[in-house]
Amino acid sequence: VELPADKETSDGRRQVYDAAFSFTTPRAPTAPRLLHFAPDVAEMLGLSPEDVRSDEFLRTFSGASVPDGARPYAMCYGGHQFGNWAGQLGDGRAINLAEVSHAGKRWTLQLKGAGETPYSRTADGLAVLRSSLREHLCSEAMYHLGVPTTRSLSLVTTGDSVMRDVMYDGNPEYEPGAVVCRVAPSFIRFGNFQIFASRGDTLSLRRLTDYTIKHYFPAIKPGKNGYSQFFEEVACRSIDMVIHWQRVGFVHGVMNTDNMSIHGETIDYGPYGWLEGYDRNWTPNTTDAGQGRYRFGNQPQIVFWNLVQLANAIYPLTEDAESLQGDLNKAVQHYEKAYDRMLGSKIGLDDIRDEDASLLADLETVLQLTETDMTIFFRLLASVSSNQLFDENDAFLNPVLDAFYKPEELAGETLERWRSWFERYLCRLSRAKATDEERAKRMNAVNPKYVLRNYMAQLAIDKAADGDASLVDELYEMLRYPYDEQPDREKWFAKRPDWARHKVGCSM
Ligand code: AMP
Ligand code: MG
Ligand code: MG
Repeated sequence: VELPADKETSDGRRQVYDAAFSFTTPRAPTAPRLLHFAPDVAEMLGLSPEDVRSDEFLRTFSGASVPDGARPYAMCYGGHQFGNWAGQLGDGRAINLAEVSHAGKRWTLQLKGAGETPYSRTADGLAVLRSSLREHLCSEAMYHLGVPTTRSLSLVTTGDSVMRDVMYDGNPEYEPGAVVCRVAPSFIRFGNFQIFASRGDTLSLRRLTDYTIKHYFPAIKPGKNGYSQFFEEVACRSIDMVIHWQRVGFVHGVMNTDNMSIHGETIDYGPYGWLEGYDRNWTPNTTDAGQGRYRFGNQPQIVFWNLVQLANAIYPLTEDAESLQGDLNKAVQHYEKAYDRMLGSKIGLDDIRDEDASLLADLETVLQLTETDMTIFFRLLASVSSNQLFDENDAFLNPVLDAFYKPEELAGETLERWRSWFERYLCRLSRAKATDEERAKRMNAVNPKYVLRNYMAQLAIDKAADGDASLVDELYEMLRYPYDEQPDREKWFAKRPDWARHKVGCSM
């Protein structure tokens, strides 16, 4: 099975029919410079440190030259944006450069920000240093946290300036341009299936689905039943991905169906953010602050909404709504169990009993009573002793006290609700089989000590804009071992400083 290609290969922006992709050429930058690369990803692709330092590497991963034998292309996809069908979107600033095989695995290399494609619509096809650095660092941070994600090989500045916002005085603002090389099995999204379904192009839909199954889901046998199995597999992977997000406090911010990878990998790092104060209503996306569609607490629901759209898209291949609905029902059950297991693991429960449901649900409520740093709270919770006598004063909160932004608010009703929760928690721990030490070890393997807080990325961006990549290096090294104690880096295990307080929430 081959993917149908665009018959026209010129770069004009247009609607593309009967094709999954269009050939296109990256644009050559003025003065490329390698700002940072991920050694793990280079190694995964079979690139040596010398390869990375070569002129050829810089030329290839800045878009200046195309590797021998490669024929770069941009993909055609559509999507639901904020719940509304948006028609053709496509890779407006991403170009699949080549595929490489190494150590029995096949990877697609994709440049993001290397110029316009037939799908660029009204935009420029470029990316700025700020967003590229955020994508590069966060992809790798997520990978090392154990969250399924696309990877990022390199971050190159182009030497070109890119116009972004037109300021209130009418003057445009320019930012340094950059190109990231993303790496994934493929960059096929829910939206790639949706675009064909929306146009009634069942032939292309079938070719794309058969191609995807053959190359990326080889355990599934072709045929009608295979499409249903494919859907079930994508559903489970997508759900597991979101459960990981909830575990580490990651908010994607733009869970449109064009930003959902068919591999269940986190893709398209845009206005994402990390919870600092635990707040289920928080979104980092200013354009979504009113509705809060993609707020932290809504991410699981949204993944199901998106899966329904994918089911609708592949329905013409199965014409079996009952079986797709059955797959969705199974996925819901899978989610409910897996979510509770995840939350239980964060508080050190090795098994979840029916009576734990309220302990888990109440934790999510008390965490929100006052501003409580999610990362610090769960990390410190591991130091609680299960045979600690429950006292009438406030000492029970001492182990986690550093997680509270406003400890003075731990009084009255709030304090009583925390007291009640801790009482039940300690009681539950005393009935568990594990020793405190074993429990702490398990908790510290699921509760990261170091995450990419928004202000950290911003500090790295400010330095990098002056050509100094030292903080990118420092954060990258730290985020490689997010669960380890790193005594020299304690300063990054701290509440967000006041100047960096999140401004965006939502009205929900
Ligand atoms: P996003 O919300 O970043 O996932 O992007 C949504 C759509 O807009 C995708 O089709 C992108 O390729 C496209 N897009 C975003 N930024 C640009 C840009 N600077 N130039 C061209 N297309 C873009
Ligand atoms: Mg996108
Ligand atoms: Mg994007």
